[in-house]
Amino acid sequence: MLTVAEALAQVLATARPVTERIEVPLMNALGHVLAADVVSSVDVPPLDNSAMDGYALRASDAGQALPVSQRIPAGAIGVALAPGTAARIFSGAPVPAGADAVVMQEDCTEVAGVLTVSGAVSAGQHIRPRGQDISAGESVLVAGRVLRPQDLGLLASVGCSAAQVYRPLRVAVLSTGDELIEPASGTLREGGIYNSNRYTLAGLLRGLNMELIDCGIVADTPEGTAAALLDAAARADCVITTGGVSVGEEDHVKHQVERLGRLDLWRLAIKPGKPLAFGSIGETPFIGLPGNPTSVFVTFCLIARPFLLALQGADEPEPLRLQARASFVVGSPGTRQEYLRVTLENTESGLQAVSYVNQSSGVLSSVSRSNALAIIPVGATVKRGDVVDVLLLDTLA
Ligand code: AMP
Ligand code: MG
Repeated sequence: MLTVAEALAQVLATARPVTERIEVPLMNALGHVLAADVVSSVDVPPLDNSAMDGYALRASDAGQALPVSQRIPAGAIGVALAPGTAARIFSGAPVPAGADAVVMQEDCTEVAGVLTVSGAVSAGQHIRPRGQDISAGESVLVAGRVLRPQDLGLLASVGCSAAQVYRPLRVAVLSTGDELIEPASGTLREGGIYNSNRYTLAGLLRGLNMELIDCGIVADTPEGTAAALLDAAARADCVITTGGVSVGEEDHVKHQVERLGRLDLWRLAIKPGKPLAFGSIGETPFIGLPGNPTSVFVTFCLIARPFLLALQGADEPEPLRLQARASFVVGSPGTRQEYLRVTLENTESGLQAVSYVNQSSGVLSSVSRSNALAIIPVGATVKRGDVVDVLLLDTLA
């Protein structure tokens, strides 16, 4: 069995990113992946401006009584400030030529149009210099950036109204299993269970701003599986299945992928989620996730997500690993890297990881009621109070 790191490296090495670009209005660009570097043509801010409501003056004039010669609100442009005078100024307004400091109004007294300042004034104080945020010619964001809200604001601040992005990836999702019932179809028949994986994956893909090609439930037959895989592969940039990749007689996915395409990888040393498959159907990459709902979540986040982001042209950093003190015990060393579902809590001695009471791969509430995964390496045991690496679920999904 490959380790998680080996499997991820192998999978990423095959990723051929989309190249088609679209232009989206900035207002719709959230979550898209920037396809071209953005260089600013302007300085931000465009002029030296006041950081305070107050008075602009020469710092060296601060000891004198200064006639207030002009009033400069935000959006207006003042005139050059004569020596020995001050300008009433407001936050965001350009500092007039000649002035080199702003004194906040709380430190000023203005009587009959004449200003006196209390306290020392230093040159440059309360002035936001032109270009202090971004200067003209500077790279603002580079291709591969997954656009976050603050990136949209940054692009707007340099005057971009649209962004060149890669077209969103189309990802086909198939749920295998004759036991599966759609929640919308009402009460369960005997032997049935509701299809949860389809919804988990739809949500995960939405979070990645990718287009879901929903292929529904596939019957556990060789013919049904083959037909569904071929149809999905023709319509999508990547096919993801759940279930049917183990070794049982009812598991047809692995065999059909071998028949229709190529299986590059099967089974990895991860818990939950051992029976993960990776390959291609024709030219379309294929990821066979396990069936158990918690395994689906964990293997998607650790293997499928980075692969899909690579296909999407995204240059996403690896999710940050934090450290926490275990408030649980792992008594016997495992042969697979384990991802325990935990809740991180702030305590006086730092972050503490409390493990969910039931870590079975079928227990999806373990993910829903946790906020992090604690990583237990192969062969490791954990005592209460030991430091473990953790991944925040918010950085994965
Ligand atoms: P399999 O690998 O197909 O044997 O599935 C492993 C376990 O996951 C079985 O208990 C299945 O019933 C369950 N399972 C598979 N697919 C789903 C699904 N879409 N939603 C909920 N549970 C599933
Ligand atoms: Mg099955």
